[in-house]
Amino acid sequence: MNDIKLALLGSEGAGKSAVLVRFLTKRFIGEYASNTNSLYHKRLSIDGRQLNLEVFDPCSQSGESRCILEEPQDWADGFVVVYTISDRTSFLNAKNILAQIKESRRETCKGEAPICLVGNKQDLCHSRQVSEEEGRSLAQENKCLFQEVSAAENYLEISNLFTKLIRHVMEQFKHR
Ligand code: GDP
Ligand code: MG
Repeated sequence: MNDIKLALLGSEGAGKSAVLVRFLTKRFIGEYASNTNSLYHKRLSIDGRQLNLEVFDPCSQSGESRCILEEPQDWADGFVVVYTISDRTSFLNAKNILAQIKESRRETCKGEAPICLVGNKQDLCHSRQVSEEEGRSLAQENKCLFQEVSAAENYLEISNLFTKLIRHVMEQFKHR
């Protein structure tokens, strides 16, 4: 059985927990604990293979992404970097996080990790501050997957993006 470890990163309030809970339970609850780090486990089967998925959902510490990153970047096999399409600051923070992941993977010689950049709260497109195109080009620059989603309104896109990311991680395992 393969063990796959993913970490969610992004600004406080970007919707990391909402995206993850949507994936794990198909539900949107609305309010999520933000003062504790959580590690979730899920068994799933992708392409006929049984997997043990572990997902790290960090609590946000006053925008100190560096400090949040210190552990998960070494631990995780893949990352979901979340920003809010109606909050430009969260997008700029996502940009920094992508750079930090790269830098620390290089320092620790861990090799490139599959990453999915996620523009969340697509339902708030009336107050959009980040265009889909900007998201897509940031992802392309960083060789990431990209998806806009709404944890509030949608399950399928979120499920698909986790599946895609997990497939990429499994591909990397083969080449080790
Ligand atoms: P985290 O700090 O990144 O884990 O963010 P949370 O998952 O706790 O979400 C922060 C707030 O945004 C909560 O009030 C959620 O209900 C809300 N939220 C999360 N995803 C969405 C979404 O897709 N649309 C809308 N409208 N609100 C969302
Ligand atoms: Mg959270």
